[in-house]
Amino acid sequence: MKPPASNQYRDAWCGTLGSGDIDREVALAGWVHRRRDHGGLIFIDLRDRTGIVQLVFDPNHAADAHSLGEKLRPEHVVSVRGVVLRRSEGNVNPRLATGEIEVSIRAAERLAEAETPPFPVDEDGPVDEILRLRHRVLDLRREGMRDALLLRHAVNRTIRDHLNGLDFAEIETPLLTRSTPEGARDFLVPSRMNPGAFYALPQSPQLFKQMLMMAGFERYYQIARCFRDEDLRADRQPEFTQLDLEMAFVGEDDVISTIEGLMAEVFAVGDFPVAAPPWPRMSYDDAMLRFGSDRPDTRFGLEISDLGGALAATQFKVFAGALAGGGAVRGLNAGRRELTRSELDSLTDHAKRFGAGGLVWAFVQEDGSWRSPIAKFLSDDERASVTETLGGKPGDLLLAVADREPVAATALGEVRLELARRFDLVPSGRHEVLWVIDFPMFEQDPQTGALHALHHPFTAPTGDMADPAALRSRAYDIVLDGVEIGGGSIRINTTEVQQQVLDLLGIGPEDAQARFGFLLDALRYGAPPHGGLALGIDRIVALLAGRDSIREVIAFPKTASGSDPLTGAPAPVDREQLDELAIRALTRPA
Ligand code: ASP
Repeated sequence: MKPPASNQYRDAWCGTLGSGDIDREVALAGWVHRRRDHGGLIFIDLRDRTGIVQLVFDPNHAADAHSLGEKLRPEHVVSVRGVVLRRSEGNVNPRLATGEIEVSIRAAERLAEAETPPFPVDEDGPVDEILRLRHRVLDLRREGMRDALLLRHAVNRTIRDHLNGLDFAEIETPLLTRSTPEGARDFLVPSRMNPGAFYALPQSPQLFKQMLMMAGFERYYQIARCFRDEDLRADRQPEFTQLDLEMAFVGEDDVISTIEGLMAEVFAVGDFPVAAPPWPRMSYDDAMLRFGSDRPDTRFGLEISDLGGALAATQFKVFAGALAGGGAVRGLNAGRRELTRSELDSLTDHAKRFGAGGLVWAFVQEDGSWRSPIAKFLSDDERASVTETLGGKPGDLLLAVADREPVAATALGEVRLELARRFDLVPSGRHEVLWVIDFPMFEQDPQTGALHALHHPFTAPTGDMADPAALRSRAYDIVLDGVEIGGGSIRINTTEVQQQVLDLLGIGPEDAQARFGFLLDALRYGAPPHGGLALGIDRIVALLAGRDSIREVIAFPKTASGSDPLTGAPAPVDREQLDELAIRALTRPA
């Protein structure tokens, strides 16, 4: 940080003082981090945003300051003046950036007292999360949270600097808007001036950024807040932040290489070791087949193989039934592992949690035979062929799932991840980023046959419109360590194709006109080819900071139940307020 402008409180930062400042007279301000009274000398660690420095209150040098020093307690706010001195040999603290020096205090003023905090601010030890969130101000004073939020700031600044340098224009889009079709539930805001009518908070600025391209801005970005009213399992937040970006007259490679240049800088700022771009691209089909996921974690092996060939003629009902019904049998080699029966049962339960009917297991014996409950149901050739397909060696554990293709893929993909967790298979410090491309345009509901857009309905399809289930899309996702950190697509830029896609989704022309007529209208007046992407800033910063939860990188997050222990939101409102909005609440919050 640049030195602070000198004022009545300070002319230097605590955390940046060092041996170069010896004999300098400085004014410092901040919070009492820790205090030690050595009967005579009082030592205080003073903290500001930049770090900590040791102050020494000596009654022989400054009696007034020393008597104030006796009264200071953790989190009191002070401003002090003193001289920077080299610490005596034995007192140097190599763990502290300023550990070579201390400040001998000449004058001190207490600017504010503080009650005893409900948890220590001077250490990063575990504290109940609700307590942390209720006293977020104190929590944010702790070193870990300060570092996380300043890293987040550095990421945002890098993004802005990089994109500004590429002539992107930062343009804000409305928060009070209409429902956007990202597929989640909307947060609604009642309109007082239009009783009975509601705004929706944006699930993303998708349609606005497309219209900005049609308006001729060529390159747009926004660090945008998005809102999705979903159940908050899996570490989501009802409001989250995306880097939202769109470009005109571009294809996939343009967007992808722009993001690669940007993300390489973001990784550098976060000191996060990943290979330099270009990053590998993997087709969706390949990802689903080999990793059982559209966000493959490629940092460890255990790749999945299709066993359909090896088992084409099998009489074993479970496999034959799945294959005959158009399903799949997928397997993986878990490597040399002695799992107990109960460990295998819990892996089976894991597969079942993701929809599989069961999990087949087999240990390859020294002579190549199998120890497996299904060994007797397969012929020698079939067992040999499965072992060979999975590269099985004596001692290896082979696992397989037979089911509808997506279920077999996903369930085994999840088993693969569970094995990685249980056996610590991800090499420490290894990070891998890749693109997933060539997505199907639609997902088909196995029961109703209804189509859903895999990305969103504005994504450009490729293939034959007459065979909608086989259409691919021009979408791409960026995946880091098995986590999707962003996604986007080249968009549809003609009314005809847009209406065709909406039709396939069961949104007829009238419905479409009512819901996104503004976009369809804009498409009629000359829409350039365009495409873009959104990156999840919360998740990216959490990964860079090595945090498990995005709540650790959001200043004021909500709990898993969507509430904010700090402000008490969401909260009931007065009857009068509801009357004004022409709303009647059917229940009161518990
Ligand atoms: N609007 C999309 C999303 O929020 C991203 C995009 O297609 O640019 O997921």
